[in-house]
Amino acid sequence: MAYIKLDQEKCKGCMLCIEVCPKGQLKPGVALNKKGINPVMFLAQDCSGCTFCAIICPDTAIEVYK
Ligand code: SF4
Ligand code: SF4
Repeated sequence: MAYIKLDQEKCKGCMLCIEVCPKGQLKPGVALNKKGINPVMFLAQDCSGCTFCAIICPDTAIEVYK
């Protein structure tokens, strides 16, 4: 199965990745990072490895692995 690695300290909580994920694998997190932001959480259930989330992330916080 494909998966992503999300750098929670780089994430600024813009939620763009949540909007583009066709599999609904990303959602707002609950813990705060050092910027005081809720970084996105990866559900790791049904990722297709499409890379849409990594491409749209303005802060290069996501890497996709297949
Ligand atoms: S690689 Fe595609 S399916 Fe996987 S989390 Fe990113 S947008 Fe969603
Ligand atoms: S697109 Fe990048 S910066 Fe924006 S919420 Fe997703 S991981 Fe965070």
